[in-house]
Amino acid sequence: MKKSGTVAVLPGDGIGHEVTAQAIRVIDKLNSDFSTGLECTTAPVGGTAYDLHGHPLPPETLELARQSDAVLLGAVGGPQWEKIAREHRPERALLSLRSELQLFSNLRPALLFPELASASTLKPEVVSGLDIMIVRELTGGIYFGEPRAMTTDEDGTRIGYNTMVYREPEIRRIAHSAFQVAQQRDKRVCSVDKANVMEVSELWREIVTDVSGDYPEVELSHMYIDNACMQLVRAPKQFDVIVTTNLFGDILSDAASMLTGSIGMLPSASLDANKKGMYEPVHGSAPDIAGQNLANPLATILSVAMMLRTTFENSIDAERIENAVKNVLANGLRTADIAHAGENYIGTSEMGDAVVAEIK
Ligand code: NAD
Repeated sequence: MKKSGTVAVLPGDGIGHEVTAQAIRVIDKLNSDFSTGLECTTAPVGGTAYDLHGHPLPPETLELARQSDAVLLGAVGGPQWEKIAREHRPERALLSLRSELQLFSNLRPALLFPELASASTLKPEVVSGLDIMIVRELTGGIYFGEPRAMTTDEDGTRIGYNTMVYREPEIRRIAHSAFQVAQQRDKRVCSVDKANVMEVSELWREIVTDVSGDYPEVELSHMYIDNACMQLVRAPKQFDVIVTTNLFGDILSDAASMLTGSIGMLPSASLDANKKGMYEPVHGSAPDIAGQNLANPLATILSVAMMLRTTFENSIDAERIENAVKNVLANGLRTADIAHAGENYIGTSEMGDAVVAEIK
């Protein structure tokens, strides 16, 4: 069931402005040709917001994000803001948005278009057609668990420790999130843990298995994290959806993203319990190429597709975008980051033109 709604567009800094501008053109095209019904409002975030309002996440921007059905974010950060007080740094805005909007479910697809198979460090036949979704728990686990400290023991030995802790409701909600994502895909979930060693993982496995009872059409399997790392580089196409903890997901999603070759191609979503989400490219603000019409806008454009499919339950228009990107790549068009050495490439806005022209 296709939903219309509101989108807070937060371009941020550096190439964030350039790539979100192309994503907005794609949304405008869908609105005008297919009545997609997304109403976009733009607001500053990150260093740009700090320069304008003295804060990386001004109250008006946070309120807009709260009131909107979804947030589309470009990227934040840049060298000119590295020396200011920590609480005013651009990256602080991202953490605040995630916690204020309770975005506990991080979706990181690793999707490789066959045309880009030679951009990966793995053999083309291993990665061609790769389409994995990693669902990472984002607001719990060892990154937040107490007690945590770096201290000195009574005998003067220095010690550091963190605690991996999960409460049943945290596991339940991320498991539901993963099964719901799988329902929209190939209906297979692999839960990754370390249940042979850790009690927290034993609980994780028990709860994920219990939640799977609500999704009989989705097949559940379990894998230990060490084996999952190996399988991800050995035969990555065996996976559909992987669900895992904050720490394991952090590591697995970075490894999986490199299977696909270019950071300029990778979208992501961070969702709350009602599938409201913040959608953003995986890359940063790329100060080295900002303002030069060199950035690849496809990660941000593909983030719009994720937004349509997940928050607005509109897979028809999501597929329109994905097919447009596929066609553009099949036609041989490349931005500099995905072009072979010596090959011709086009700029950010020309890539936007090409995608818009292919939306049918
Ligand atoms: P980066 O992702 O911005 O850039 C890494 C490299 O990839 C650079 O060479 C860049 O030119 C290239 N690159 C990135 N996106 C590209 C695109 N769309 N098209 C073509 N090439 C692209 O990472 P970085 O250089 O480590 O960080 C730069 C700034 O971005 C820092 O201030 C950092 O804190 C911030 N950052 C923000 C986010 C975010 O907003 N989510 C994420 C990562 C880094």
